Order: sequence, then structure tokens, then C-alpha cells
Amino acid sequence: MRYVSTRGQSPAVGFVDAILAGLAPDGGLYVPEEWPTLTHSQIAAFAGKPYAHVATEVLACFVGDEIPRETLAEMCAEAYGTFTHAAVVPVKQLYPGGFLCELFHGPSLAFKDVAMQLLARISDHVLAAQKRTQTILCATSGDTGGAAVEAFRGRANTRIVAMFPDGRISEVQRRFMTTAGDDNVRCVAVSGTFDDCQAILKDALSDQSLKQSVGLSAVNSINFARIVAQAVYYFTSAVAVGAPHRPVAFSVPSGNFGDGFAGFMAKRMGLPISKIIVATNSNDILARAFQDGRYSRGAVAQTQSPAMDIQSASNFERLYFEAVRRDGVETARAFKAFNDTGVIDIPPGALATMRETFVGVSIGERETSGSIVATLNETGELIDPHTAVGMAAFRKAREITDPVVILSTAHAAKFPEAVSAACGETPVMPRSAQNLAGKAERFDRLPADADTIKAYVRAFAES
Ligand SMILES: *Cc1c(COP(=O)(O)O)cnc(C)c1O
Repeated sequence: MRYVSTRGQSPAVGFVDAILAGLAPDGGLYVPEEWPTLTHSQIAAFAGKPYAHVATEVLACFVGDEIPRETLAEMCAEAYGTFTHAAVVPVKQLYPGGFLCELFHGPSLAFKDVAMQLLARISDHVLAAQKRTQTILCATSGDTGGAAVEAFRGRANTRIVAMFPDGRISEVQRRFMTTAGDDNVRCVAVSGTFDDCQAILKDALSDQSLKQSVGLSAVNSINFARIVAQAVYYFTSAVAVGAPHRPVAFSVPSGNFGDGFAGFMAKRMGLPISKIIVATNSNDILARAFQDGRYSRGAVAQTQSPAMDIQSASNFERLYFEAVRRDGVETARAFKAFNDTGVIDIPPGALATMRETFVGVSIGERETSGSIVATLNETGELIDPHTAVGMAAFRKAREITDPVVILSTAHAAKFPEAVSAACGETPVMPRSAQNLAGKAERFDRLPADADTIKAYVRAFAES
């Protein structure tokens, strides 16, 4: 399997090079040259299989012969062995047509663990084989940082710098990053928003001299391995509620659109997904894009669901590329213009293609709290504010008659303040994370300035 850039100006590379590079040299994102497919009977055979088994099968379609199958299977078994639930990502029925897929049983209590635990093992394997080291720069809206630090801490071939927007993430989110005592981990509180952090990351990644000298890499959802790993639970959860024998819909709390795009990918691979509800908070750039055909950046508002406080959804470029029939020149034009103007007018044909799968729904702050309360009252489940956005969007999308799987992207205990403010109940921290509050924190504060942060990364990599 070869990978091409969404901007059409980079040479095709293999899986390993695509995941180590993160961003393609022309500034685009890697996508497979063509989508592999699974047959109806291959998908049907996933029913009742261990999660690691399905993950191996799906990953193998993308890895090709670059990693031996047995090694891949071992990595999947190890990665999902870190989850505290035997089903890894259990599916629970909450409503007649509504099912919750719990993605938060990993070490940092958010769905980011699903991909990151695997990515860390794949990277380690590849770096060791090539006798290389890497420095990961990570921009987090809250959960990616914790998942990345948990996955990469103590690994011999990797250093990691996690940047987060100062004061804009929850204390529990911050502690998952800042309490790791390992020498290969640094955390930076950036005085700015997540979009500032992401812009700094993109700047650093397109700085070829920095990239070469420190072996710079990214684990944000611009990294294709993460998207592949996330496609896996679309298969396991859809099969659990009746696919491939009937179509299934999803409601996906969305920010950077990695998760939503993973669903699109599962559909391309043959999973009968009828609709994907892209559920955003009041930072509704994605929801508006599907509603109005205009992808236009607004100001970032702080909400109870901080991991989705994003006004520039990296993975939208991957969908755009598909929707304009893989026209790299057009994709490059649109996203370079977006950088300058903050607007893309989606061509009508491309918008129609997107709408075949995606429905955008934006949920305000009152509705989010209301969704936590309603879910508690109607089902007894205490959900986190991100999941609450997905749940509220599910309730609104009455035109969907297929079973809907709502992705539950974080454990309620990761956002205790917001949950208890909404419903008066304080979620109980799972046993695995109960000692977090007592640990010492370590992080540096830096301005939202690319040169300052690049110098910091260089100094750390050379230390
Ligand atoms: C990252 C995150 C999201 C958004 O996922 P994207 O792939 O960025 O769209 C939603 N909920 C939680 C809890 C997250 O951590």
C-alpha cells in the first residue's frame, strides 16, 4: 500500500514513512493511494471476535508487508491489553435505537488512547528496526497530550513535547500529561488557543531543517495511523448492533474531524454506514460546512467540551480531497486559501458527496448540560460533556431510522466540574487513575510563538 498527499505534490511513500512523517512535504496529509475493501463475509466474521483480532485485520489492509502480520498482532494485543475493560470498547444499549460505544477504558480515559497505544508500539518497532530516534511535537486540545504521554513515556527511541493551551483544559486532562516523571517527556503550556498550538505544530513540521535535525514527528490526527486505528471500532460497534446485515449510523463528537473521517474510511472499506452525525459544540465550523457548504473559521469559544474547541479541523482536508475526486491541485488551492482567508466555499458536487454520509449538528452549552441530565434521568448513565454533545445530536437527528451508535469519547471523571455543575453528581474516578491528584506536576510556560517553541524543541532534543 502506498500513500499520497492530499496536495498532490509529494512522492508516494509506504506506510512506515507516511506515519513517521506526519505531514507530507507539500503540506498535505497522507491518504492511501486507494481504499482497501473488506467483503460482507469478512465483516460478518468480526462478530464476537476479540478487539485486538479485528484491529489486526483492519490494520493489515493498510500496513501491507511493511510489518509482519504476527508482529502486528502482538502489538495490537499489547496495546489493547492496557485497557481496563475486557471488551476494550464495549457497546451498551441506552435507547431503543441508540447505543453507546465506550471508547474511554484506556490509560488516559479518553478515546485518543485507542489509536495512541497502537501508534506508540508501531513507531517503536519501526524506529528500532531503522536505528533511528524521533522527537514528537504534539498539539493537544486536552486529550491527545495525555494519551500520547501515556503511550510514549519511557520509550527509548522517542522524545515527546506536549503543547496545550494554558488554562483551557481540565485539571484532570492536564495532570495526565504533567505528572509523568519520565525524562523523555516535556509539557508546555502555551499562552493561546488550541488552534495556535496546531499552527505552531504545522510551522515546525514544515521546517525541513528542524525536521531533519531532531527527527520531528507528529501524533496528531494528521498522522494516518491514528485514523486507521480509529476505523476499527466503527467495525466492532457496527457489527455488535447488526452490521453488515443492516445499515448503521453514528453520532460522533467532533473537533479535528479525525474520528469522523475514520468513519468515512470504514464506510469506504465496505462497512454499511448510512449516516455519520458530526456533532460539534458551539465551535461549529464542521457542522456549518455540511449545512451551508461554507467551511469558514470563526473565533474559538471556550466550552465544557474543550477537546472540541477547534475552528480548523485538520482532517477535513482528507474529506475534501475525496469529495473533489482526489484532485490534489484543487485541494492545495483550497487549503492554502483557507490559511489566508479562513474560508472555503465547497463546490456543489463535492458538498453533495459529503452530504451522502455526513450531517452536521451543533450543540450549545445549555443543550450539552441538558443532555447530561436527560441521559442520567432516562438511562442512569453519567456521561462526559463531549459524549453529551454526541448524545444531544442523536436526539435531534430524528430522520435517521437505522440504529445509531453514539461514540462516547471520554470518561465522565475526566470532566468532573462540568458534569457535577450540570447534574449535581460527581463522577467517580476509575481505580486505574485514582492516584493522579497526588502526583507532582512539571511543565513550562511559553508564548504562542513558533520560533520560541522550535528553539525549545531543539534544545530538548539535543539535551
Ligand atoms: C479529541 C476529542 C474529540 C474530538 O475528536 P476529533 O477526532 O478531533 O474530531 C471528542 N471528544 C473527546 C473527549 C476528545 O478527546
